Formats: sequence, structure tokens, C-alpha cells
Amino acid sequence: MIGLQIGRIHTLSKLVLSLGIAAGIGIWTPQPAYGQAGSSSPLSSLIHRGTSVPVYEIFGSDMSQLLRQRLERVLWRQPVRTDWPLDAQGNPIVETRRLDTLIHVVKPGQTADRIRTMYRTTWSRLRSWNPDVDFRSLETGQTLVVWKRQPDAMPTSHGAPQWGHLDHGEPLPPGDTYEIIHPHRAFGTYYTISETRRTLRTYARRFPEGPRLLVGDISFRTGRSIHPHKSHRTGRDVDITYPREDEPPSWKRFYDVPLWKLDVPKTLFLVRTLLKYGYVQYIFIDRRIQRRLHERARDMGAPDAWLDAVFEYPEWDSHDSIVRHSPGHLSHMHIRFWCQPTDRRCPR
Ligand SMILES: [Zn+2]
Repeated sequence: MIGLQIGRIHTLSKLVLSLGIAAGIGIWTPQPAYGQAGSSSPLSSLIHRGTSVPVYEIFGSDMSQLLRQRLERVLWRQPVRTDWPLDAQGNPIVETRRLDTLIHVVKPGQTADRIRTMYRTTWSRLRSWNPDVDFRSLETGQTLVVWKRQPDAMPTSHGAPQWGHLDHGEPLPPGDTYEIIHPHRAFGTYYTISETRRTLRTYARRFPEGPRLLVGDISFRTGRSIHPHKSHRTGRDVDITYPREDEPPSWKRFYDVPLWKLDVPKTLFLVRTLLKYGYVQYIFIDRRIQRRLHERARDMGAPDAWLDAVFEYPEWDSHDSIVRHSPGHLSHMHIRFWCQPTDRRCPR
């Protein structure tokens, strides 16, 4: 994108168009997106000013250089940590198409008690949500309400992801552009769900032809221990598969992605979408995959400062970068979101 020859006026509109698509940035959106309070794009002011200036002044060599620098700043904005937005009462102000009710379709051999345990809920709730159901004779394919939103209960993460728990966890809504491996293990805090959903939707809009993404574990509704993970206990950790160039062997679990099957551009898009608002604390990605993402970003014109801030690669144990190596992440990336202000005893 950066390497485009800027010589004629119509190139500019193409540039802006492709910029918007490539970066997923709503440059022309009149309202700032959440997490970017009042931010105005340096590019948009340049373009608006440029309409009344003779062409040769806009596209002189100095101007071309300036435009490149500004494009670079917009495309590869240094990742920053942003506080989750709350209103004066301390309520989240992000709009999500979140669920109010979660439905479970009974699978062969599942008893009501098994389902109740899976969703970490109580008999009294299950009965009140499904007054007409005979729990002694469930049939395969039958639907049950297994979770309902409590209007005044905020999902709250308590403690560290390795030992904490989650109160009032809310489920990741099902979507037709992604698959959730185990819906009963995909509960999180409000913002974890909100940002995961935004990322999945942004990806699906950008790549409507796929491949679909597979979402693995977040947490149980109440958090706590979740085999085989060390973390994933507080609703702030999410596992998402890497986009690959072929179909995975199945949609039931994660498979290691052979490096030559990894869709590097789409994986990099996913990482950048996740980083957009500054709510991600870490992403664990195998070093070999990081290397390919690093190379791809550099080829696209990412400045060194951005590469250093984002990737641990080529260092071995950077304590500052967001994307870090951790064994076991050849099949999926593990995203950890920052604590939100409503969380308790959350390590900062
Ligand atoms: Zn994980």
C-alpha cells in the first residue's frame, strides 16, 4: 500500500479506499469509534485541505513524502493501552449485539444433569427457564434454555487468569461466520465477549469468502479450573484458530496449522484488528508463525517501532511486546484482554 506511486489525482481516492479496507479504519465515519475518543484522522484533514490546492502542490515530492508518512502513521499506529470506556455510572458504553438467552440443543446421550453441570447452572434456574420440559426424558435435538441474562448483573473477573474465577459470565453469541467448539466453555466478561465478537465480525466482513474461524475456549460461566489450560479461569482469555488456506480436517477441535498452509495476510489482519483499540494485553503465537507475520508486516511497510512493540520475534524473551511465544500455539492464538474497571483483584 505504502509503495504506491502517487502521481495522478485518481490514485488518491484509490489509496484512501484501499487504506480504509486494509486497515479496517472508518476514516470517513463522522463519529469516532469507541476507544478512540474524539480522534480525527490526520489523513482526512490532509485530503479535505487538498481539494482546494492545485494538483502539483499536493503531489510534489515533499508532499508525497509527507503523505506517505501520514499514511504510515494511520496504518501502523503504535499500539497503546486504552482504558475500557464506561459512562458516569460505571457501565460499559460499547454497543454489542449480545445475547439475552442461550439455547442448547441436546446431543445423543446427554442427560439434564450433564447439561446443567456443563453450563455451571442450578436446577432451580434450569426449571424456571424451561417450565414445560420433562428433564427425565430429554430427546436428542430438543432445545433447552441454559442461560439467561440477569439484567443488573455485570460479568466480573476476579483475580488472575491462573487462579481466579468469573461471576455472571456471559456467552459468546453463536454466529454464522464462525464456529464455537464448546459453547458452554465460551463465557467471558462483557468486554472480552464484545471485543471477540467485534473481531470476528470485522474479519468476516473483510473476508466474506472465508475461511471461517474456529473459536475455542474462553471460560466456564463461573470461571475457575478448565482442563487442560493453566489460565482461562477469569473470562479474559480467548483461543481463536489461525486462518488457513485449506479446510481444517474437522471443525470439532484445533489442529496444528502446517506453516505452508497458514494464511499469513489474514492472520496478520486478525492480529491488527485485535490490537486496534488497545484492549489486548497479550497474544500468544508460536514463534515460527510470528516470524511469518513479522516478515509480512515489514513487507507491507510497517515501521520498526511498530514491529518491535507488537512482536517478540526476533528477540527470544521480550517483556514489552504484545505478541509472545508460548509452546502449544501452532494451532491457535491465545488472546488475553486487559482487566476492565468492573473486575476485582485483577493484576495490572
Ligand atoms: Zn488459550
